[in-house]
Amino acid sequence: MANTPYPESYYAASANAVPPRPALQDDVETDVCVIGAGYTGLSSALFLLENGFRVTVLEAAKVGFGASGRNGGQIVNSYSRDIDVIERSVGPKQAQLLGQMAFEGGRIIRERVAKYDIQCDLKDGGVFAALSAKQMGHLESQKRLWERFGHTQLELLDQRRIREVVACDQYVGGMLDMSGGHIHPLNLALGEAAAVESLGGTIYEQSPAVRIERGANPVVHTPKGKVRAKFIIVAGNAYLGNLVPELAAKSMPCGTQVITTEPLDDELAKSLLPQDYCVEDCNYLLDYYRLTGDKRLIFGGGVVYGARDPANIEAIIRPKMLKAFPQLKDVKIDYAWTGNFLLTLSRLPQVGRLGDNIYYSQGCSGHGVTYTHLAGKVLAEALRGQAERFDAFADLPHYPFPGGQLLRTPFAALGAWYYGLRDKLGF
Ligand SMILES: Cc1cc2nc3c(=O)[nH]c(=O)nc-3n(C[C@H](O)[C@H](O)[C@H](O)COP(=O)(O)OP(=O)(O)OC[C@H]3O[C@@H](n4cnc5c(N)ncnc54)[C@H](O)[C@@H]3O)c2cc1C
Repeated sequence: MANTPYPESYYAASANAVPPRPALQDDVETDVCVIGAGYTGLSSALFLLENGFRVTVLEAAKVGFGASGRNGGQIVNSYSRDIDVIERSVGPKQAQLLGQMAFEGGRIIRERVAKYDIQCDLKDGGVFAALSAKQMGHLESQKRLWERFGHTQLELLDQRRIREVVACDQYVGGMLDMSGGHIHPLNLALGEAAAVESLGGTIYEQSPAVRIERGANPVVHTPKGKVRAKFIIVAGNAYLGNLVPELAAKSMPCGTQVITTEPLDDELAKSLLPQDYCVEDCNYLLDYYRLTGDKRLIFGGGVVYGARDPANIEAIIRPKMLKAFPQLKDVKIDYAWTGNFLLTLSRLPQVGRLGDNIYYSQGCSGHGVTYTHLAGKVLAEALRGQAERFDAFADLPHYPFPGGQLLRTPFAALGAWYYGLRDKLGF
């Protein structure tokens, strides 16, 4: 049987120790079979176990193998399209519900970390950095919007003030969100997996779901076993492939790349990000960065539509890092990797039900660390028969990609080129 390891990354190299997890070799029975052990699957499993369900998780590779174990580690509130866009396309009641939920994911992460004592270098504070007056204006309205939905830990930063928290000359200002922050993402996933097991859940690694037998009593097949369940949660996101063709048709995997420097001496690290906040800029194709627990700079950016792995990641990302921080020109890059997130046409998550008993959440389009934790809670509520919040997501329109699976990549790349050009020209 294939044994898929973690990709080489800083996170895999600094992962907390974990017990070996077997591949599924039998027929087992459970209440809920979760497909995928990223944040969506693990968060669903945890909320379900806390509510008395029996849960079996199938993971094709290893816990946190996908985006959840490779991401920038930034806890960013709200969705990849903000609440005002949602407000314009759905009624006020649905927008109100979605707006109220937009800040819950970060709270769930902090509760999980505290309750299950997860060691994942959690730090508070995230900065949105504006590269133009137009982007600053957008942050001002975003602050007003978020405050309307009860989110109050925000501070606008003028050009002088942002220099106190980010030693980069590119920004005209920004917004600090103290309920944002950062984590070691793989260690968060590993801690959540341990919590699942502490509550009696079972996780099988190297156990891809290869076929779902739908119907009143669904069965999930792996190469060597099967899981009979009352419910299935599909949480494979950008790594799901064509297991559920309806989901593949309306989303597109995209790659984004990350590099990590060697450890910086304390003085240099402190001079870059004196308060240890994480930062993302406001471009459509955005750069994001932060310090790790051992004072390396993790820097991410760039998108590859269609999720092909670029040949030389350092050559793509290092120039962006040096543009922000020329003072790092002699610093060595220790790690470089790529990971896939799932893009939807609306850039809003797709949540729903196939038949009576197959539930899914996918496609948070880039910002997913907080949303996926919320999604687990919302899916668990729906399985318990409380579907109001689930329905608020499920009623968002889902659009197929124009051009189908063949042409969606060039179409999306064309769209991104247009938005990238707008960023460059500052309009
Ligand atoms: C490089 C990168 C940087 C990012 N940075 C940030 C950031 O800083 N902040 C932020 O908010 N978001 C970020 N994101 C997005 C965020 O990481 C994702 O939205 C989120 O982790 C998605 O979680 P998930 O559980 O839905 O999917 P994943 O974490 O991808 O998990 C899916 C899992 O399902 C498994 N799987 C797939 N198919 C099957 C199958 N058939 N059977 C069994 N298992 C299966 C996969 O192996 C995988 O482990 C980033 C993404 C990437 C790639």
